[in-house]
Amino acid sequence: MSCLFCRIVAGEIPSRVVYADDTAIAFLDINPWHRGHTLVIPRRHVDDVVSDPAALPEIAPAIAATAKLLVEKLGCDGINLLSNAGAVAGQEVFHLHVHIIPRYASSPGLRAMIGPDPAIDVDEVFAALRG
Ligand code: 5GP
Ligand code: ZN
Repeated sequence: MSCLFCRIVAGEIPSRVVYADDTAIAFLDINPWHRGHTLVIPRRHVDDVVSDPAALPEIAPAIAATAKLLVEKLGCDGINLLSNAGAVAGQEVFHLHVHIIPRYASSPGLRAMIGPDPAIDVDEVFAALRG
């Protein structure tokens, strides 16, 4: 199995899972842009949001539940949803994923959305979400 995210679903590669159901899992991004940056993916392999129109509706409940969890546990002030389809759009892992990006009043606006923040301690965030 060569797909990185299929291997995460299979448990072959460790991840910090914050939500799971029969169809999807959500885990913390290893290189977060903002505190609580999470990826929601279908358990089944789908290349991207365009290649299988059924996939996004399938994972919609997981996206909504994860967004609610992030708001409730991290107290973020807003959320961005993003799914890159195709290398030209910036997609680097070719297994459909929706980025859920919690946003805080200290760093507002769309232009401040993108870009890794190495100061974020992903294990601290994971502990906050599980508590
Ligand atoms: P893309 O650019 O394809 O939309 O986003 C891929 C995302 O996957 C990036 O934000 C990147 O940090 C994240 N990522 C890549 N490899 C791993 C990994 O092994 N574990 C986790 N949790 N996230 C990963
Ligand atoms: Zn896959």
